[in-house]
Amino acid sequence: MASPVFRFAPSPNGELHLGHAFSAILNADLAARMGGRFLLRIEDIDTARCRPEFEAAIYRDLAWLGLAWEEPVRRQSDHFADYAALLDRLVRDDLVYPSFMSRGEIREHISEAESKGRRWPRDPDGVPLYPGVEKTWSKRARRKKIEGGEPFSWRLDVAAALARAGKPPSWREADGEDFASVSTVDEGAAAWGDVVVARKETPTSYHLSVVADDALQGVTHVVRGRDLFHATSVQRLLQVLLGLPEPAYLHHRLITGTDERKLSKSRGAPTLRSLREAGATPTDVRDMVGLAPAEAG
Ligand code: GLU
Repeated sequence: MASPVFRFAPSPNGELHLGHAFSAILNADLAARMGGRFLLRIEDIDTARCRPEFEAAIYRDLAWLGLAWEEPVRRQSDHFADYAALLDRLVRDDLVYPSFMSRGEIREHISEAESKGRRWPRDPDGVPLYPGVEKTWSKRARRKKIEGGEPFSWRLDVAAALARAGKPPSWREADGEDFASVSTVDEGAAAWGDVVVARKETPTSYHLSVVADDALQGVTHVVRGRDLFHATSVQRLLQVLLGLPEPAYLHHRLITGTDERKLSKSRGAPTLRSLREAGATPTDVRDMVGLAPAEAG
């Protein structure tokens, strides 16, 4: 059997903290234990928020932790053409539609419906589902609007996509912090509604570029935080629609701060750099995230 392939895929929109360290180390440890490969991928499709100095900091912090990854590192912003090719297939298969509503218009549409007593459905993150008004438009009406230069994103028509898939794709999820035992998760993507697969300002989205790259890089084991557990249903659906291979998944515990909330860049979690500057060692970091000291060798 080909060797397993793991990846750590941070976004360079801030400095890494202990949550990232845990994810990266867990991936590298599992790769070492299973005789696999460990890749690093820079997820920087959000060119407005991602910065080269944060990318440089990722390499510096991971090297300090003692991790070694394969070169070259795949940087998503260098590969927009790959994602566009996959998007084209979804467009041709009529599984996506152009959506023109602004955030404000969406909010207005929903509050109007709610003012009439209708409870608007929310996705697993609590965000109201997209109203999908454009789905009823004719092809001609859509084309006219596009040709008029109106900005639009491409959204997955999730009902059409699930119908095309036949049955909602399940996935294999590790039961613990390794792949010794796995269970099947049956969770359809319908709960997310018509998710964005290509943004207004970028010819791709988080979901599309992740499934594209996991396939292109031959990733067999996706190990990432529990906060992305439900997103897997959307990614599995895209994999089935695009005929891409199915990795196994492990959504690990999240590292929390003293307030019991998930560490986050925006809430000012201590960065790996600040811990290092305060004298912490890589062994201290492993200890802080609940991992045993590194095995020698
Ligand atoms: N780039 C994503 C993040 O930083 C992780 C994506 C993934 O592991 O699938 O949260």
